[in-house]
Amino acid sequence: MQGEAFFDEGQLVGVLTTQPLGRPLDYRAPEGGCHLGAFVEVPLGPRKVLGVVWGAGQGDYDRSKIRAIIRVLDAAPMRSELRAFLERAAEYTLTPMPAMLRLATRAPGLGDPPSMRKIYRLGDRAPDRMTEARTRVLETLRDYGGLAFTLGEVAEMAGVTSSVVKGLVKLGAVREEDSPRDVPFPRLDPDRPSKDLTQDQAEAARVLRNGLRSGTYGTTLLKGVTGSGKTEVYLEAVAETLRMGRQALVLLPEIALTAEFLSRVQERFGARPAEWHSGATMTERRRIWRMVGQGEAQLVVGARSSLFLPFQNLGLIIVDEEHDTSYKQEDGVLYNARDMAVLRAALGGARVVLASATPSLESWANAQAGKYDKLDLTARFGEAVLPEMRAIDMRAQKLDSGHWISPALRSAVQARLERGEQALLFINRRGYAPVTLCRACGHQMGCDACDARMVEHRFLKRLMCHQCGETIPVPTTCPSCGAEDRLAPVGPGVERLTEEAVALFPDARVATLSSDMFGSARALKAEIEGIAAGAADIIIGTQLVAKGHNFPLLTLVGVIDADLGLQGSDLRAAERTFQLMRQVAGRAGRAEKPGEALLQTYQPEHPVIRAILGGDEEAFWRAEAGERQAAGVPPYGRMAGIILSGSDVGAVFDLGNALARADGALRQIGAQVFGPAPAPIARIRGRHRVRLLVKAPKGAPLQDAIARWIAPFRLKGDLRLSVDIDPQSFY
Ligand code: ADP
Ligand code: ZN
Repeated sequence: MQGEAFFDEGQLVGVLTTQPLGRPLDYRAPEGGCHLGAFVEVPLGPRKVLGVVWGAGQGDYDRSKIRAIIRVLDAAPMRSELRAFLERAAEYTLTPMPAMLRLATRAPGLGDPPSMRKIYRLGDRAPDRMTEARTRVLETLRDYGGLAFTLGEVAEMAGVTSSVVKGLVKLGAVREEDSPRDVPFPRLDPDRPSKDLTQDQAEAARVLRNGLRSGTYGTTLLKGVTGSGKTEVYLEAVAETLRMGRQALVLLPEIALTAEFLSRVQERFGARPAEWHSGATMTERRRIWRMVGQGEAQLVVGARSSLFLPFQNLGLIIVDEEHDTSYKQEDGVLYNARDMAVLRAALGGARVVLASATPSLESWANAQAGKYDKLDLTARFGEAVLPEMRAIDMRAQKLDSGHWISPALRSAVQARLERGEQALLFINRRGYAPVTLCRACGHQMGCDACDARMVEHRFLKRLMCHQCGETIPVPTTCPSCGAEDRLAPVGPGVERLTEEAVALFPDARVATLSSDMFGSARALKAEIEGIAAGAADIIIGTQLVAKGHNFPLLTLVGVIDADLGLQGSDLRAAERTFQLMRQVAGRAGRAEKPGEALLQTYQPEHPVIRAILGGDEEAFWRAEAGERQAAGVPPYGRMAGIILSGSDVGAVFDLGNALARADGALRQIGAQVFGPAPAPIARIRGRHRVRLLVKAPKGAPLQDAIARWIAPFRLKGDLRLSVDIDPQSFY
């Protein structure tokens, strides 16, 4: 690697490993030496572990005991930009470096020599005896000229069993060769013809291109209603990045659902990008990790963890649906991928585009303060217009108990069915019913290990705890009073709503979309594509449907309970409800037909409901910003959550009280600590949870103070402490 320091054989180097140790350990550079940043294998006690050469050795350890690096792995060294990013991200999130390094090495066999696989191409001899199957194989291969395929591919294309192909190999008619598995990704061509952009879109694309050409860091908030062409615009920024010979990363919140997006990339650039997500196979992950490092993957489309890939020359990061809560990782390393994207770009001279129809208040405020640039796409593309939004005042609707579709909503759905259009009924609750209640004694079914109700999932025929995932068969007798057949579901979930819709509209085809109803991401993808093509008349869905799918036939969105998100004390309740309702409503009327969104609510005068209906977004943001400013909460103040947990509730509270008393380091920076208090979910998987909340003025060195505050505390037994900087959820 050019420019990186080099250590000669025998020199002391510090190696950061993925093992939970306080600091890089000293080793001797191996035969042939090694570069700063090299991925290496080192001995640690009796084991061999993965590490990265992080700098010169400290030399404070008995030199005679220092061991040598076993080998330098066959992978591009980690660039200084990524090392700096991991260090800064660790400081920001108060995460130990080994955990950060684990995030950056989440692919198996990183240092293994390139693994091989067999491929097959046309041979030069003709078999003496031809069969129909053999002819098909040879013709298939001939059709593709000199190209080679795997055994499975040849067999499938020719419609024969693999033994036919193997037979031809023996005869010399087909050639079997070894080929490396980690092959580069196909080149993307940024200069293929793009769509003709509207004037607004073209102007936005021009601004983004100019920013890229400057070669310096910058973040742009790309705000535009759903369907305004944000994706078209940022694909032009991707094109410019590729032209400049740099790499691009598109982060999507729900990576399983990108079929539509991937085909758009293919259409625009002539090939598919690398896809990085939890569903990718280990082989695929390894290939992506290596190719990204070698610059042979130009575009990665990925979930939040793709931010930690070893890009060689990352020029652009798109964060699509930047307000989405799934960007916050809520276990392990607690980080927000949106914020970390900005950090990584700042360190690497890259550009960030945050795209959303309903930005987070954080990003809105950053744009307002001039820290981010802002681009607005105000009109929907082509004929499509934003749906008309109206409230259905539930106080004036007649509804039997156990029913949730009001007469007004019912007739609106009926009208769509008659016109051959689609309707979407939205309820943000998985399962059949949120509560199972004993009609004899009032007992509510709860989870044994968590302070949470068990949710009936009729589809699975079980009760499920949404905290720990525990399930039990639906009981027939009440576990509390023993009454027989008196347990009843209370309240609606997506499955129950489906039941009601099927009963109300017996001739309609009803499809339910909920993340837990599909065995695999692929099955879900197929279902969504089917629905988009018109395979259903009524779609019943949870939050899953709010995310970026195109349903061209959809002209009505009915929100069953618009008030749901307004309950609770979450600081972002209003913001979340506003975003979700606007997103869901945005599903309607994407094509030529105008859409309508109906919100069932018991409080049509609630300021948030009025802001949603009124469509005056800026007014909503300004009002919300004003309230947060007055309260000194994010983004106008800083917050951190401290979660303590353990099996002994007394010990957990003792630690919490001790922390609260020793708050000197916090007071020094003008911060306050609240609590300890039982966390909103006070028990998960049998562990008691207690929360402390730290509030600090904006600009205060919060992480540093927290680190000094908690450092003296030793965690005894199974006590755990985790720090959540900028907490998003308060469970
Ligand atoms: P957003 O990302 O803002 O929701 P999209 O980029 O997905 O919007 O655009 C919405 C739809 O309109 C897509 O089907 C897209 O292909 C189409 N579209 C947007 N702009 C254009 C354009 N300039 N020419 C042709 N089709 C367009
Ligand atoms: Zn549970």
